[in-house]
Amino acid sequence: MSLKVCKFGGTSMADGNVMNAVKKIILSDESRRYIVVSAPGKRFGGDVKVTDLLYACYEETERTGACGSAFAKIRTRFESIVKELNLDMDISSVLDETECRLNREKSRDFTASRGEYLSARIMAKLLGAKFVDSEDVVFFDENGRLDSEKTYKAIAKAVSGAKLAVFPGFYGTDVNGKVKTFSRGGSDISGAIVARAVGAGLYENWTDVSGFLACDPRIVENPRRIKSLSYKELRELSYMGANVLHSESIFPVRKANIPIVIKNTFRPEDEGTTILPISQYKPEGNVVTGIAGKKNFVVILIEKSHMNNEVGFVRKVLSVLEREGVSVEHIPSGIDTMSIVFETEQAEGYKLERVLEGIKDECEPDVIRVMENVALIATVGHGMSSSIGTSARLFKAMAEANVNVKMIDQGSSELNIIVGVKNEDCDRCIAAIYHEFFR
Ligand code: ADP
Ligand code: ASP
Ligand code: MG
Repeated sequence: MSLKVCKFGGTSMADGNVMNAVKKIILSDESRRYIVVSAPGKRFGGDVKVTDLLYACYEETERTGACGSAFAKIRTRFESIVKELNLDMDISSVLDETECRLNREKSRDFTASRGEYLSARIMAKLLGAKFVDSEDVVFFDENGRLDSEKTYKAIAKAVSGAKLAVFPGFYGTDVNGKVKTFSRGGSDISGAIVARAVGAGLYENWTDVSGFLACDPRIVENPRRIKSLSYKELRELSYMGANVLHSESIFPVRKANIPIVIKNTFRPEDEGTTILPISQYKPEGNVVTGIAGKKNFVVILIEKSHMNNEVGFVRKVLSVLEREGVSVEHIPSGIDTMSIVFETEQAEGYKLERVLEGIKDECEPDVIRVMENVALIATVGHGMSSSIGTSARLFKAMAEANVNVKMIDQGSSELNIIVGVKNEDCDRCIAAIYHEFFR
């Protein structure tokens, strides 16, 4: 029987009740051997995730030198979980040690990582499983990227002989021996890393929705579930804002062709969504697989007559951005025009001014304009390349919803069409495209 790695997200760890449901899911299938958990998430609307409480702790430490009052909320949260579970565990001592180390290390990443650490300690106790601290088995290299070789070896060694093991998600250790986290939502990546390291047959990602939906359920009520999608479609959709799965989580599993299944902890009998390599993926016959959007981009529009004849023009523009350390998302271009699209946080205020001045001085464009507060919306699907009239339908839907198109970019693989719209039109535009292709 091939083994499964299961990652349980924040809502699946939110309180003792759900943690008991998680235990039942794990114990109902012997192949569910290696478990990765997130920090406890929201229990109800308006509640605060433990990770956010921890970031607040760090801010308090920075302001006052210690994290006393902010840590009190975290203490209460974990104490009540242990109480609800009726566990024979001295959580107070674990919390005391944690608080001491927080005040000693005074590190943002270390502080943020403690939600996962504490929930994994509790989950391991609840399951009678081995606790493997990710600090000892997940390693980053000098560029801050995963040191996969060292990591996979260490994980395989740590689980050898263990029937059941629990890992905290979200963090590992950098080259200086300090705890370092992935970006937000990164426990999904940890799950994929463990799946790859132990040679899992399946990576189960347990969350609070019954699979990957054709668009964000907070934008369209009850969107259609996607039965299966390819790694490529997943990457496009999650990168563009469908944050049900972190966009980096495919890299560890993709090389080993390990499928991912997204399942709902609160409705375990629901089928969920399977994510497969393209060779195993069976399209459902839809033109569009899904739609996702992300706000806060800047678009710089550049016009220059005979731009196409000026050898090195694009390089000159890009070297200005490179010098300022701006990472570019898209470069749609025409004969005498090009646009540069990047996330707002890449260049704000003076930095944006410097980029514009640099392009003016070094590239001498006829016109340079900036659009801020732009949202990018990606319509994704392998079905689009073989179906005529997809863009016509997409733009008609946008026109009918009275959404003005600011920018268009069709990926070279014909897997996606990306449109830029005003931030405030983003949700309306996603809903309009969804209704055109799914209703
Ligand atoms: P977890 O804590 O389990 O990691 P997340 O909050 O990170 O869960 O991801 C699940 C959430 O992602 C859902 O509750 C849903 O609101 C949101 N979401 C956004 N886009 C999508 C989508 N296309 N399909 C499903 N869920 C989506
Ligand atoms: N707890 C972390 C976060 O809130 C990581 C995760 O949940 O995946 O971002
Ligand atoms: Mg998540």
